[in-house]
Amino acid sequence: MNYNDLITKAVQTHFLSKDELVCLLSDTSCSDALFNAADTVRRQYVGDQIHLRGLIEFSNICRNNCCYCGLRRDNHKLTRYRLTEDEIFALAEHAATDLGLKTIVLQSGEGLYFDQKRMCHIIKKIKTLDVALTLSIGEKTLSEYQAYKNAGANRFLLRIETTNKDLYHRLDPGMSWQARKQCLDDLRLAGLEVGTGIMVGLPGQDIASMADDILFFKDIKADMIGIGPFIPHPDTPLAGNSGGTLDLSLKVMALTRLLLPDINIPATTAMEALAPSGQLKALQSGANVIMPNVTLNDYRKFYDLYPGKSSTNVSPDNSLAALRDKIASIGRSIATDYGFHQKKV
Ligand code: SAM
Ligand code: SF4
Repeated sequence: MNYNDLITKAVQTHFLSKDELVCLLSDTSCSDALFNAADTVRRQYVGDQIHLRGLIEFSNICRNNCCYCGLRRDNHKLTRYRLTEDEIFALAEHAATDLGLKTIVLQSGEGLYFDQKRMCHIIKKIKTLDVALTLSIGEKTLSEYQAYKNAGANRFLLRIETTNKDLYHRLDPGMSWQARKQCLDDLRLAGLEVGTGIMVGLPGQDIASMADDILFFKDIKADMIGIGPFIPHPDTPLAGNSGGTLDLSLKVMALTRLLLPDINIPATTAMEALAPSGQLKALQSGANVIMPNVTLNDYRKFYDLYPGKSSTNVSPDNSLAALRDKIASIGRSIATDYGFHQKKV
C-alpha cells in the first residue's frame, strides 16, 4: 500500500499494524497528509473546542535520576523549591476564578514531602473550586492512587517514556519499566482517567519502537496521550546528544489521533520549545488540549526540564491572553466544560 492508502485505512478503521506504522513514520513525504487526516479525525470525534488545563509546577525536588531530565537528583546546579499548600491553592484559585480554567494540573518531581496526607488535603481544597483535577506526581502505590481518587482527583499523567524496556532501563537508572506499567494499570483500577505518553528522539530510540509505543497506547486504552520531542539538557548525562524533531513528534502524535480518535491529546510545551508555532501546528495535526503554565515566574525558571521550556519574562496572565488570540487565529474556540474523555469508539 502507498502512504495515501495507509492513511485512508487508519482514518476509516482506526487500526494500523506495526509494519504499517513503521512505513508511515519512515516516509519523509507523508507528513502533511498525515497531519491533515489527524486534523479531520480530531474535528470529527472531539470537535473544534480546545481544553485549557492550568499547570502548577509545585515542586522540582526529585529522588529519581532520569538521564534526560533537568530535575534529576544529581543535577546539583539546580535551585530546588517546594511551594506551600497555601501557595498552591492560591495559584489554583487564580486559575479557576480569575482565568476561568476548568482543569488544574498539579505536577512535580518525585519528592517525599508531599505524602498521601498532604496531597489529599490539597486535592480536597482545590476541588472546592469547581474544577477537574489532574495529578502528575510520579510512581505511587495503588492505595495512594485510590486515596487521591477518593479525595477528588480525576486524572493522572504518567508517561511510559518509551516502550523499549532496554532503553527505559538505560535512561531511568534505578527504575523499572514493569513497575511503571503496573502504575498505569493501578491508576485504571483506582478509577482515574489514565494519561501517558512518550518522548520522541531519545538516543537509541528507533522508529519501530515508536510504532510499538502507539500500539501500546491503544492496548491500554489510554484516555490522554502527551507526546513531545526529547530536548537535551546541558546538565544531564544526555547533554550533547541530538534531540527529537518537531516533524517526527507531530507524526507520532497524528498517528496516535488516528488510532485513538476520541482521546485528549495536548499540544505539548516541548513542541513549542522547538518552534514558535509548534503548539499551533500540533493543534492542527490532531491535538485538542493545551496546558498553560500558571506557576509564578519566580519559580517557573527552576522547573527546568529542558532548555527553552518556559518564557519566564512573560506573566502567566499575559501568556494566557496571547494563547487565546492564537487559538482564535486558527478558527478554534476554548471549551468551557471540564474536558473529560468522552468515549465514542
Ligand atoms: N516526575 C513526574 C514523572 O516523571 O512522571 C512528573 C513530572 S516529569 C518532569 C514530566 C515529563 O517531562 C516526563 O514524563 C518526561 O517525559 C518529560 N521530560 C523530562 N525531561 C525532558 C526532556 N529533556 N525533554 C523533553 N521532555 C522531558
Ligand atoms: Fe524526576 Fe520526573 Fe524528571 Fe524523572 S522525569 S527526574 S521522575 S521529575
